[in-house]
Amino acid sequence: MAQCLVCKSTIEKGQYCDAHLIAKKNLEEKYKDWQTAFGKLEWKEYLMRMANDQDIPIGDWAREVADYLLKKEK
Ligand SMILES: [Zn+2]
Repeated sequence: MAQCLVCKSTIEKGQYCDAHLIAKKNLEEKYKDWQTAFGKLEWKEYLMRMANDQDIPIGDWAREVADYLLKKEK
């Protein structure tokens, strides 16, 4: 058994529960869109915006993943 890195719920294997795994993929997909739209954008800067800007309609799960990844970067 393992734990989701973000919400600590019990999972069979891997690092994320289903919800956070999907959210992480969405986050990574959206990063490509943002790079296309805004040009050069650091991953960390992107995460910061996703985690902090409540106006971006990315969803709570993705926001939690962004928050977790940011903390890990530090
Ligand atoms: Zn989770």
